[in-house]
Amino acid sequence: MQLLLMGPPGAGKGTQAAELVKKFDIPHISTGDMFRAAVKEGTELGKKAKACMDSGKLVPDDVTIGIVRDRLAKKDCAKGFILDGFPRTVEQADALAGILEGLNQPLTKVLNIHVPSEDLIERAIGRRICKSCGATYHVKFNPPKVENVCDECNGNLYQRADDNEETMRNRLSVYEDSTRPLTEYYKKAGIYLEIDGRQPIDKVTEELVNVLSSVKD
Ligand code: ADP
Ligand code: AMP
Repeated sequence: MQLLLMGPPGAGKGTQAAELVKKFDIPHISTGDMFRAAVKEGTELGKKAKACMDSGKLVPDDVTIGIVRDRLAKKDCAKGFILDGFPRTVEQADALAGILEGLNQPLTKVLNIHVPSEDLIERAIGRRICKSCGATYHVKFNPPKVENVCDECNGNLYQRADDNEETMRNRLSVYEDSTRPLTEYYKKAGIYLEIDGRQPIDKVTEELVNVLSSVKD
């Protein structure tokens, strides 16, 4: 099953992908996570990505397409994958179509998690992530049992540098300009579905699992 989770920053893509990984046992491929790991490791890729990420701009298409191409070629993707945060431009979507054609793994479903922009800033500002395992929390909507401690692995939680109001406004405006047009792109392909992301986390998961349970590999 080749899934694409779409939606604006803060819509809940990473949160839902973590649940779908447990349910369907396919890898979660988040370009944002890959860039954050590269920044942490101080690699050349991390150096290229950091300034864009800090200001809420997109990392250049050629760089982003390259890391996704390499990742999708890995063995664990042969049984399917969940893309999150890629593609974000028409150029990336065209490149993805070519990569998937080459792998003979067309997209099974494009699931767009819809959340109105007025909710997204609060979601991003309250987001906390585990330093050790990457689990995502929210100070109000999905708090850990013990403040700043991960329920899953006892790791410490941190706040992303780009989860502040100013950068988030830039990210939302980049989303409107560059990424929202992709909904039309995928609607045409007939595999597109919109999910109401304003529901509680477990309800969104339930809806996604219901949709996907009727899908054949
Ligand atoms: P994305 O990957 O789309 O940027 P995340 O999954 O990281 O979004 O979610 C953004 C923030 O919103 C996190 O703090 C997460 O805990 C919270 N969140 C996710 N889904 C919901 C939901 N359905 N209702 C309320 N808060 C949510
Ligand atoms: P995310 O974790 O998806 O919110 O992404 C965080 C940041 O990483 C974005 O604001 C961009 O700077 C960068 N990024 C992630 N995915 C992409 C992508 N597909 N294209 C360009 N930049 C990206």
